[in-house]
Amino acid sequence: MIILVINCGSSSIKYQLLDMKNDDVYDLLAKGLVEKIGLPMGCLTHKPTGKTPVVNELPVPDHKVGMKLVLDALVDPVHGVLQSFDDIEAVGHRIVQGADFFSGSALVNDDVIRKIEICCDFAPLHNPAHLLGIEAMTHVLPSVPQVVTFDTAFHQTMPEYAYMYALPYEYYTKYHVRRYGAHGTSHQYVSRRGAKLAGLDLNHSKIITCHLGNGSSITAVQDGKCLDTSMGFTPLEGMIMGTRCGNIDANIVPYIMKKENLTPDEMTTIMNKKSGFLGLSGKSSDMRDLNDLALAGDRRAKVVLKKLTFDVLKNIGGYIAEMNGVDLIVFTAGIGENNARLRRRVCENLSYMGVKIDEQVNENAHGETIISTPDSKVIVAMIPTEEELMIARDTMHIVSALED
Ligand code: ADP
Repeated sequence: MIILVINCGSSSIKYQLLDMKNDDVYDLLAKGLVEKIGLPMGCLTHKPTGKTPVVNELPVPDHKVGMKLVLDALVDPVHGVLQSFDDIEAVGHRIVQGADFFSGSALVNDDVIRKIEICCDFAPLHNPAHLLGIEAMTHVLPSVPQVVTFDTAFHQTMPEYAYMYALPYEYYTKYHVRRYGAHGTSHQYVSRRGAKLAGLDLNHSKIITCHLGNGSSITAVQDGKCLDTSMGFTPLEGMIMGTRCGNIDANIVPYIMKKENLTPDEMTTIMNKKSGFLGLSGKSSDMRDLNDLALAGDRRAKVVLKKLTFDVLKNIGGYIAEMNGVDLIVFTAGIGENNARLRRRVCENLSYMGVKIDEQVNENAHGETIISTPDSKVIVAMIPTEEELMIARDTMHIVSALED
């Protein structure tokens, strides 16, 4: 089944075209990105498998035009990979926030769209863009079934004591204020792959998954289900991230707002876009830059790196206690997959419970790798995340069931 996976942001469309043979066997036909939608000059980067990539600068006024550009690139006589639009059998969309409406993926219909609209309140930067993506796709491919996969769905198994904040209960009943988590598709994928790689029975296992990228979250997966996760009502809660502050004393928020005379929106922007690695270092939100800065002796960059390790440990330690043990720790996403030093530092601090990694294997890890030694009491692995594959799988299952 040929499936187009779409990840729509407010000014961008990321896409992958996959030919799914079954859950594990697939061909990536093409992937790409439309950027700077709505700006005077936009850009399409199209990477067809086995053909020369194309970069095309042109104005992209809205998502409908962007989606049409993606489809035209896919059927282009030179750079395309399909004969016609009709070859696309289904479309899968990534949706950031599904709140407690969705504990799994769903076929797009009016009711689903209405619920995603309600969730815009909790993800004002993301959900409206996803809706634009669905609308644009409905416009250009009206007869193709569309499926939505939610970043929050995997975390719906959290027990009440994990998802409730200790605020007056009425804010939960009136405004749905609770913890929802994020990166669920990634945590679900790497916990399953990790269990397989480590030879564990997923249904009787204790796994901690560390998704460390620009946005970072850590999840406790007990018996294949999410027990707890570090992100909360929004993806701001938890650990230090590229530009997000993670956990802070909530009283700091009104304190700074009063001192600096800030509006709620301005304060939200500071916590989400100007904090984290960027705010603390004053120089960059990118881990590679911070590594270089720290090597050159930059004191604040060194604090950022230490705080990141510290936050990862704090979550891992907490989840080991919550699950009364751990069988497997998985690292994934940009930092988790590429930063061997961070993995080593985290594991060194877990030596008290018998975690031992093979430094050589850790340094050279590419693709799914067990980095712990055979005598380590806990298995540690690096698993590249494949969120698009998860979306394509769910889309294939839901659309195949329709056809049956
Ligand atoms: P997003 O949350 O935007 O999907 P990614 O998962 O791509 O983010 O992660 C981006 C982060 O990964 C950046 O901080 C980047 O510096 C870091 N990263 C990517 N490659 C490397 C590398 N080779 N070494 C260290 N950090 C890396």
